[in-house]
Amino acid sequence: MRVRPEVLFPLFKSVTTLKGVGLRVAELIAKAAGKHIVDLCLHLPSGVVDRSYRPKIGMAEPGRVATLDVEILEHNFGHGRRPTRVVVGDGTGKVDLVFFHARQDWLIKQLPKGEHRLISGQLEQFKDRLQMPHPDYMMAHGSEEGLPLHEPVYPMTAGLAPKTLRKAILAALTEAPDLPEWLDPSLIEKQGWPSWKAALIAAHSPEKQADLELSASSRERLAYDEILANQLALALIRQRRTSLEGRPLPLSDIRLTKALDALPFRLTSGQTQALSEILGDMKSGKRMQRLLQGDVGSGKTVVAFLASLAAIEAGAQATLMAPTDVLARQHGRTLQALGERVGIRVAVLTGRDKGKAREAILTRLCAGEIDLLIGTHALFQNSVTFKDLALIIVDEQHRFGVDQRMALASKGLAPHMLSMTATPIPRTLMLTAYGDMDHIAIPEKPPGRQPIQTSVTPLGRIQEVIDGIGRAMARGERVYWICPLVEESELSDLAAAEDRAESLRAYFGETVVLAHGQMKAQDRDAAMARFASGEAKLLVATTVVEVGVDVPEATIIVIEHAERFGLAQLHQLRGRVGRGEKKSFCLLLRADGVSETAKQRLLAVSTTDDGFKIAEEDLRLRGAGEVLGTRQSGLPKFRIANLDVQSNLVAIARRDVDLILARDPELNSSRANALRILLYLFERDAAARYARVG
Ligand code: ADP
Ligand code: MG
Repeated sequence: MRVRPEVLFPLFKSVTTLKGVGLRVAELIAKAAGKHIVDLCLHLPSGVVDRSYRPKIGMAEPGRVATLDVEILEHNFGHGRRPTRVVVGDGTGKVDLVFFHARQDWLIKQLPKGEHRLISGQLEQFKDRLQMPHPDYMMAHGSEEGLPLHEPVYPMTAGLAPKTLRKAILAALTEAPDLPEWLDPSLIEKQGWPSWKAALIAAHSPEKQADLELSASSRERLAYDEILANQLALALIRQRRTSLEGRPLPLSDIRLTKALDALPFRLTSGQTQALSEILGDMKSGKRMQRLLQGDVGSGKTVVAFLASLAAIEAGAQATLMAPTDVLARQHGRTLQALGERVGIRVAVLTGRDKGKAREAILTRLCAGEIDLLIGTHALFQNSVTFKDLALIIVDEQHRFGVDQRMALASKGLAPHMLSMTATPIPRTLMLTAYGDMDHIAIPEKPPGRQPIQTSVTPLGRIQEVIDGIGRAMARGERVYWICPLVEESELSDLAAAEDRAESLRAYFGETVVLAHGQMKAQDRDAAMARFASGEAKLLVATTVVEVGVDVPEATIIVIEHAERFGLAQLHQLRGRVGRGEKKSFCLLLRADGVSETAKQRLLAVSTTDDGFKIAEEDLRLRGAGEVLGTRQSGLPKFRIANLDVQSNLVAIARRDVDLILARDPELNSSRANALRILLYLFERDAAARYARVG
């Protein structure tokens, strides 16, 4: 087993080994930066104090940090709440040094009357006097070299004195070793970056605001190092995973052609491309781990279905896991019909299947009499045993945790894994959070789809909306009406949905059905089924229809209190319409008094139909963690880099890593040793062990 390279040992010592850092301070430092010396080194300043302003007092401007050469004139000791004032002057004017709760004997010793001192701190105007509360420095003459001209200001934690932290960081920096260069010399030259050590020192010695910017070359270099470590780690994990053997599952042309002929449509070129990549993975002998991305309605399900044929042809089984009961049953309906035409046995298992029916499915599954099992979380249960599971398909993968996917994987022998998502993931996030998976996107939607026309309307004009959908329903069109669910008050929202269904029934009668999460599954399915068949024309629902539901005849979706939804969620909801050939509409009803930002967000959704653009906007407005839901995303935390603005560095790093591994897949070159140090520096120990260097 490999261990951290020796050259890094000093950096991974505890901060308590630094002079002046005891256990109590170490605890505070751990909160602000971390436990190790390296954490202090990478704790970069957020500001800088310029102490080079050295005016005569008569000329000094209040409001600035000033360094003054003064004589101590007078001590006015305070009592009670009154502070002590030490009057100092330089012949051109006077300044009061102000101290709260200072000990008299200490002050007399520090600032004896008649002596000269160099004083530095924030100068303020107080009534008609100049004052400086608690100067940062009070130095005897002759020790001026101890006064920093430019002093870094660090992000703090309560209870930790700035001076203490600064000293600890200075001490930490003296421990930082020179490290071998891991960056490509031509990149360094092109970017004009310093070496790692020089960059580190420079980043901690800012002189002006510009030195603190992300684009300052020392900071940029350190950010790139961090991003490179991230990208290299992911690539090594990816490489290692693809070197794991997987079962070769080729799909014969005959079978594929037969299945394609059975489809009621022709695959789009994006679907064809995605399918061929996936089938390529499956027959390669390596274990597939791929993310299939495609905007809502791009037709991912059929691609997954066709991929499952490769497993089934080999006599093995496949499973498709969906996040909701409704969705699993919908997949069941379409894929069972398709399965019949191509001669494979498809079954559905959800939490609702109980007793004999469930037993029967489990028995057939175990005996290998089911080829493709579609289900929900019920699939994780121990009692669910496959005869030979070779492919796992996870629909709407962001709805599942890593653990759940793993639990399913353990039901087969190194099964291939295909994850699908309609959440558009901006490229930067894709690279940094999912860089260990292969991915492919379906870029377009099936032909004949019309863009969805989206508009924003204040709730005050709801009557017009009701009249409008009435006309559409009279023409035979079908309408979704979505009511929001806010977690803390699910019940009252439910009541709101019920009320809304009630009030719409007053207009439209029995053609209105209601579906929500709290309903008995049978009743909800019955409502959905009536809507899908056209028996009902208006479906009032909470977000149970958010993912995946497919009723091509629906042409209008009304979203009430749209301001309560996330952008990506609105886009998902909107994706429920525009699935047929008729023109579709999305009406966002917003509360009357919403904020400007809220209006702007809704505008962003209404002006583009492009899920990727919306995701980018979401990212801009909410930040990466929110967009992916940090809990499950595995999105790494960056301490120096800022992905929102440094996505260009991510792209460079990705190319860099591809090149490194293409030339030297086992990391044997001399640069490789330095790269291994980089991985350990950023604590990518696990990935570093996959690099085959000694
Ligand atoms: P999503 O990618 O959102 O999961 P679905 O797989 O539910 O999309 O597909 C949406 C709809 O498009 C379905 O009704 C499906 O039958 C249809 N569809 C899929 N591929 C095509 C195609 N190539 N041409 C026409 N319709 C298609
Ligand atoms: Mg889907």
